Amino acid sequence: MKENNKRMPQFPEPFWRGTADLPSFPKLSEDLETEVAIVGGGITGITAAYLLAKEGVKVVLLEAGVILNGTTGHTTAKATAQHSIIYDELINHFGEEKAKLYYQANHNALQYMKDLIKNNNIDCDYSEEDAYIYTNSGSKLQQLMDEFKAYEKLGIAGEYVSKIPIPVEAKAAIIMKDQMQFHPLRYLKHLVEEITRLGGQIYEHTTAVDMEEGNRPVITTRDDHRVACQQMIIASHTPFYDLKGFYFSRMYWSRSYAMAIQTEKEFPGGMFINAETPSRSMRSAHYNGEKVIIFGGDSHDTGKKENTHSYYEAIVDFAEKNFGVKSIPYRWSAQDPITLDKVPFVGKYSSSTDNIFVATGYRKWGMTNGTNAAMMLADRIVGRDNPYAEMFEPQRFHADPDVLQFISFNAGVAKDLIKGKLDRPTADPDSLGKDEGAAVTVDGKRAGAYRDKDGVLHLVDTTCTHMGCELNWNTDERSWDCPCHGSRFSYKGDVMEGPAELPLKKLSEE
Ligand SMILES: Cc1cc2nc3c(=O)[nH]c(=O)nc-3n(C[C@H](O)[C@H](O)[C@H](O)COP(=O)(O)OP(=O)(O)OC[C@H]3O[C@@H](n4cnc5c(N)ncnc54)[C@H](O)[C@@H]3O)c2cc1C
Repeated sequence: MKENNKRMPQFPEPFWRGTADLPSFPKLSEDLETEVAIVGGGITGITAAYLLAKEGVKVVLLEAGVILNGTTGHTTAKATAQHSIIYDELINHFGEEKAKLYYQANHNALQYMKDLIKNNNIDCDYSEEDAYIYTNSGSKLQQLMDEFKAYEKLGIAGEYVSKIPIPVEAKAAIIMKDQMQFHPLRYLKHLVEEITRLGGQIYEHTTAVDMEEGNRPVITTRDDHRVACQQMIIASHTPFYDLKGFYFSRMYWSRSYAMAIQTEKEFPGGMFINAETPSRSMRSAHYNGEKVIIFGGDSHDTGKKENTHSYYEAIVDFAEKNFGVKSIPYRWSAQDPITLDKVPFVGKYSSSTDNIFVATGYRKWGMTNGTNAAMMLADRIVGRDNPYAEMFEPQRFHADPDVLQFISFNAGVAKDLIKGKLDRPTADPDSLGKDEGAAVTVDGKRAGAYRDKDGVLHLVDTTCTHMGCELNWNTDERSWDCPCHGSRFSYKGDVMEGPAELPLKKLSEE
């Protein structure tokens, strides 16, 4: 393990960003008017902008950083309607008809992506693959069997097998046929080029910080420019404006880890995820003319673990044991929000806003869910009926199991809030070496300290600017993460991920 560890890249960088050449766009420097304004340049925002531009709609897309560097740039990009074990649960909670709608929506989105790639010869390392959920745990066999019965009820093309074609121990697996793997950024690059060719405008380094509702909603940017529109899509992963939707209290954020590894053993194909924890996911991709396996796994709630490096080590151990590790060109991590009933929120932002839409909560299955969301919202904006609108409606409310989950989730948030406030760390800033960070006590108060590689100490107030929870240090990403609602801040205090909008208070910088 120690030997492999040495071969790990020192800093995280996602494989997709390192192997795609994306265009860049200017910062917004004036006020604008448009038909549709979209906030967020991930798979949801880009696909929605593409679909609308193709229909002749005037679109403006605002991106806080650079496009495709949010979760879409940090995914593992299996495009499949096999979203781990879910269909048996959906049948139990929503009934067979709605469970089928969830499947069809994702299956259609997958088909749309496949057709787009084939019809336009998009060069995106695309291949059709069977998707497997496997288990090596006796206690998961019944669950897997129930999931397979759900496939049969819903008419999903699948198979229950006792062997998988990779050298990983498994007692059984279920297969969903003809899914796909691809390079998400090379695929989305084609859509970006089409948006601009069709007259759509994209602005990078342009953060939406506020919004006025009304007949013509107006977005205000951090630089005080105003974008007035007829309809708006909030595709900022976690909704940037949350005064009415309370999405932060209806979702939780889960981080996972991914690595691109060149292995001794050849990967025969297929896309795999296990049913037990820790989760292990595998697919292949091409890197410098050779195959790498993209491993993923090891989820935990954002902000609840400090030594995040250990998750990478666990993935390397798994890769070494089953495939042999030659080299590790890339490693990265990211988070995705999960709704309490596991179905994304796609539709009207709040019951009183008819021209502002939201799409979020993909539960780490955003390739098809994000594409489906864009298709649904484009239909809505141009006035076409969409058969899935009700299933994904953000204002839906199901007493079972939402209420219990809502209470236990928000009780957990309250516990984290109080625990953080009582915490008086024993560390002090002087004890930190280079590239080390920790919660420390300064003048009797909790603070966040990081000493960078040049020895400069960065001290911030660790009170989250969203709702006041205390942030925890993430050793590997060198970030301050919120255990309550998933916001993340750089060691300098800048917002990396919402729902927080304001930076942390700086206490000093030597
Ligand atoms: C480790 C990991 C592995 C995954 N693997 C898979 C997989 O194999 N298959 C699959 O289907 N799904 C997978 N997912 C899920 C999938 O990657 C995500 O659900 C999806 O990429 C989310 O897309 P998005 O467009 O909603 O968000 P993002 O890609 O995060 O895009 C949102 C954008 O909005 C911008 N933004 C935020 N706030 C503002 C603001 N105020 N103003 C302007 N811009 C703003 C951000 O900078 C960002 O670029 C995975 C997720 C993780 C975490």
